[in-house]
Amino acid sequence: PAQPRDRLRVAVQKSGRLGDPARELLASCGLTWRESRDRLFLYGESLPVDVLLVRDDDIPGLIADGVCDLGVVGRNVLVEHGLEHEAQGRGVRLSEWRQLGWGVCRLDVAIPEDLEWTGPAQLEGLRIATSYPQTLGRWLREQGVDAQPVVLNGSVEIAPRLGQADVVCDLVSTGGTLRANQLRPVTTILESEAVIAGPDHTLEDGRQEIADLLLRRLDGAVQLKEARLLMLRTDRSLVDTVLPLLPVGHEPTVLQVDGRDEVSVQVLVHGSVSWSRLEELKRAGASNLMVLPVEGMLA
Ligand code: ATP
Ligand code: MG
Repeated sequence: PAQPRDRLRVAVQKSGRLGDPARELLASCGLTWRESRDRLFLYGESLPVDVLLVRDDDIPGLIADGVCDLGVVGRNVLVEHGLEHEAQGRGVRLSEWRQLGWGVCRLDVAIPEDLEWTGPAQLEGLRIATSYPQTLGRWLREQGVDAQPVVLNGSVEIAPRLGQADVVCDLVSTGGTLRANQLRPVTTILESEAVIAGPDHTLEDGRQEIADLLLRRLDGAVQLKEARLLMLRTDRSLVDTVLPLLPVGHEPTVLQVDGRDEVSVQVLVHGSVSWSRLEELKRAGASNLMVLPVEGMLA
């Protein structure tokens, strides 16, 4: 069993696509830190939370072994690790504690541009280059297709040109890399985004409480980022026409404007408010329309 620890330890990608956003996320929860000399550790100063900086592929294993409690990682890496463990009959199961909505990408099968796509059966007997053999293998079984995975840890997209494989199964966000290699995505086998991964049980030694605090702040920070305050004025007689046109959000607050037959309306909404929405409100009789960002919130 792992040694008792009273500080939460979070694994984050050292560099790469998820490193900076993950640190920003932790900073938005009020975490400040001091970096270790070897740039492996961030010692939390404001909260009992330390950050371990690692390669993303190592994150699920660190959580499974109890070295870290949580990690910020792509679902693609988490799923691949889970299937690998299942295949080996090892019982450590991880789950997604939060979906973060960034680091969005797909694990796609891509074929040479000049090839026609008729469906998964076409892959029968072909060599498929991938860094995700388990996820690909599961999908192939589901499709009842027998193909040959060629496992590569990088530069999967050049494998067909090198004659190492016939097609690829790789991560895609814009498709630019595939296009540059005369490949086109034809089917998606996994939709991915960055997630907070953790064990599928509660943490021990008081670390669950720290994790709860961190996640509560994180949820608040996410809500805050999307929150806008919409303000407007309108004639008292038009309130019933204007209110139904407001974007869905919280209960609007309607205030009487001193000495006038006018009201001021304010409502907290999620996400941005479109120009067309504002124009619609104006046509209905609203004026002084304003959309403001929200700096802080405590219900
Ligand atoms: P490391 O050195 O930590 O192993 P890496 O090269 O494996 O880094 P990155 O390329 O930094 O990993 O990607 C990290 C994660 O970013 C991916 O696992 C995936 O979840 C996500 N991601 C988002 N878009 C893309 C994309 N277009 N290509 C690859 N990964 C993407
Ligand atoms: Mg990696």
